[in-house]
Amino acid sequence: MPDDMTETDRFAKERERMVEFQIRTRGIRDARVLAAMRKVPRHLFVPKGFEHAAYEDRPLPIGEEQTISQPYIVAVMTENLELRPESRVLEIGAGSGYQAAILAELAGSVISIERIENLADRARKNLARAGITTVRIVVCDGTEGYPPGAPYDAIIVTAASPAVPQPLIDQLAEGGRLVAPIGPRDCQDLVKLVKRDGRVETTSLGGVCFVPLIGEFGWKGDDL
Ligand code: SAM
Repeated sequence: MPDDMTETDRFAKERERMVEFQIRTRGIRDARVLAAMRKVPRHLFVPKGFEHAAYEDRPLPIGEEQTISQPYIVAVMTENLELRPESRVLEIGAGSGYQAAILAELAGSVISIERIENLADRARKNLARAGITTVRIVVCDGTEGYPPGAPYDAIIVTAASPAVPQPLIDQLAEGGRLVAPIGPRDCQDLVKLVKRDGRVETTSLGGVCFVPLIGEFGWKGDDL
């Protein structure tokens, strides 16, 4: 690379390659999702010392035994939420704040729930550094959803649960989409639910491996 390239330019080039080779060629076609992933500076959401790996095709540790998800999985989940500029979105599992930043590029309002206070603090800082001011991070048990903001047009769960928590289904708007990894502790099926006439239609988006969703309607701490 030319010597006069700034760090910002270098990361922008890495992002461009990430979108082209990890995301677009694997079938993600929504132009708004591709643009958001090209724009959000993922290197600001990984821990110090991991910036060099921010655009690699894998999850990375973010402390507290949690991870920032693989970029391709972020793209698949986001595309399946079918967001519009006016959509109201709920995320369960703020983690680093990166997925919330992508959602904020595409939707009207984003509430993101995190159960670990330290991570919530860091996510808020990461989002501020990236110039994103429209995400609200709340510390509580996300398996109960967040009734004050309901109903939601889209709900994304970024931790794995044995079943879809009923409060999340209840808080989904008519026509709303929910994407979540569901299944056993080690690896799961990524499912998409669409609520129609009060009932949910479920489709499978393929296999994934996520950290556990711990709470009243997920895994109990002593199940693990
Ligand atoms: N979306 C995140 C990102 O972009 O960095 C990655 C999320 S990480 C794979 C899963 C997160 O879910 C962890 O931060 C974990 O603490 C959180 N989590 C697990 N159970 C939760 C619960 N009941 N409520 C809220 N957050 C929970």
